[in-house]
Amino acid sequence: MKIYSYSKINSFEQCPKKFKYKYINKIKVLEKSVESLLGFTVHSVLEYLYNEVKSKRIPEIGKIITIYSETWKENYNENIKIVKKEFTERDYFNKGVEFLVNYYLKNHPFKDNTLETEKKIEILLDESANIKLIGFIDRLVHNLETGEYEIHDYKTANNLPTKEQVENDKQLALYAIAIKELFGKEKEVALIWHYLAHGIKINSKRTNEQLGELKKEILFLINKIESATNFPTYISKLCDWCEYKNICPAWKENSNSL
Ligand code: SF4
Repeated sequence: MKIYSYSKINSFEQCPKKFKYKYINKIKVLEKSVESLLGFTVHSVLEYLYNEVKSKRIPEIGKIITIYSETWKENYNENIKIVKKEFTERDYFNKGVEFLVNYYLKNHPFKDNTLETEKKIEILLDESANIKLIGFIDRLVHNLETGEYEIHDYKTANNLPTKEQVENDKQLALYAIAIKELFGKEKEVALIWHYLAHGIKINSKRTNEQLGELKKEILFLINKIESATNFPTYISKLCDWCEYKNICPAWKENSNSL
C-alpha cells in the first residue's frame, strides 16, 4: 500500500529536490521555523478548546492563554529559526496570543456543533494500485441549521489567498471527498478557512463533479511522483524556509551569486 498525504504531494510540486530529501532519503532535520511553531501551538490550543467544548466545558480565555504559553515554552528551542530578522521570538509568541484572543471573542460560546477535532481521514484513490491518501481535518462540524458538514482549517500565516486560490485549493477539497464517503455523496460539505491574522473566515464548496476530477488529478500527480527518476531544484522564495537549504547545491549556487 502506498500512503500519501496532501503535504507530501505539495512538497513535490513545490520542489522535487526537497521532496527527495524528505521522503526518499528521509533526512531528518532538527531545524524548524518559528512560523511552524506558531502554527503548531495555535492548532494545539484550539484542539484543546474544542475538546473541552465537546465535554460541555468552556475554558476561560485566561486558561487558553496559559495553555498556549506553556505549549510554546515546551516546544521553543535553539533550533527554531527566525527567517524574518526584523521580528523576535516574542513578536511571534504575541501574535499567537492575539490570534487566540480574537478568535475566542468572535466565536464564544462555540456552539457550532463540533463533531471531531484532528479528525483522521483516509481515501482509497486507486484500489488496484493500492494508493491511499491520509490527512487530518483541524475540526469537523455538523451544522444543524443548514444540515451541512463543515471542514474547518486554521491558518496562522499573514497572507490571504486570492479567490482563484480558494477555488482551486486541493487540500480541503480532498478532505471533502472523505467526508462524503463517510456521510453520503448527496451531503453538502462546506470548506472553511479561518485566517487568524485577519480575523476572517473564507468559505468555499465543490460539486461532486469537481471532486471526481480532483481525485483523477491527484492520482495523476501521484503516478508522476512514483515514476520520477529526476528530482530538480525549484528555487523560489520558499527556499528561505527550506530545512534542507544547507545541503542543497542549487541554494549554495544561488546564494553565492547574490
Ligand atoms: S533550498 Fe530551495 S531548491 Fe533547495 S531543496 Fe530547498 S526548496 Fe528546493
